[in-house]
Amino acid sequence: MTSVLELHDVTRSYGSPPTQALRGIDLRVDEGEFVAIVGPSGSGKSTLLNLIGTLDRPSAGEVLIAGERVHDLSDARLSAVRAHMIGFVFQQFHLSDGQTTVDNVGSGLLYTGINRALRRQRAREALTSVGLGHRLDHKPRQLSGGERQRVAIARAIVRRPALLLADEPTGSLDSVSGETVVQLLRELNDAGTTIVLITHDRELAERLPRRVAIRDGLIVSDSADPALADRLTAGAVA
Ligand code: ADP
Repeated sequence: MTSVLELHDVTRSYGSPPTQALRGIDLRVDEGEFVAIVGPSGSGKSTLLNLIGTLDRPSAGEVLIAGERVHDLSDARLSAVRAHMIGFVFQQFHLSDGQTTVDNVGSGLLYTGINRALRRQRAREALTSVGLGHRLDHKPRQLSGGERQRVAIARAIVRRPALLLADEPTGSLDSVSGETVVQLLRELNDAGTTIVLITHDRELAERLPRRVAIRDGLIVSDSADPALADRLTAGAVA
């Protein structure tokens, strides 16, 4: 199996005296997986998201994205890795209000050297793949919340990134729209997209194939590694 993401004993502290937001995270995500990282407020989810998204570097330990060691990369190379390897989906969509859906999605291909006509073509294909082939010329304000999030997902996948990283993607949606977004993510995963979804919503996480629970900056359970909880307990006793 090829790993898309590896974290080895990753810690991240802030400030002085230091607050340890992450206290030694080991995690491997392979190609084709769909992993929910779930934890309550303050558990370290945003910190972890920033490290996985290469928006931040660890205080100690290693982060590898598609085999590339983040620590070793220059800022320029890191930006390139981020742009090519990772598609981001945020709770608040972050679409440009003045642009049509096609141009919003096509903006995910800026600076790739792909010309505008081809960007629009690829954007139309991505929008069709998220079920919005009939909303190509709409502006975000003409769309429902669920549709906006689907546009944001189309923008995230238009470069065919190695990893789709979703931060509370249903957090701003009603339950019906949230359901269609989860269903879409499942379909993208079935078609081969590797997804890491970060959420505080246990119910949402329960429905995803693999669940990693984080608390106080540590992984406390991983459904792909049922023996982890026993090892943690043994470690705490030892
Ligand atoms: P979550 O996203 O799960 O709510 P965070 O990653 O935001 O958790 O925070 C984890 C811990 O790190 C919290 O105790 C938080 O107060 C602390 N923290 C996060 N960011 C900073 C920062 N920039 N400076 C100081 N402490 C921070």
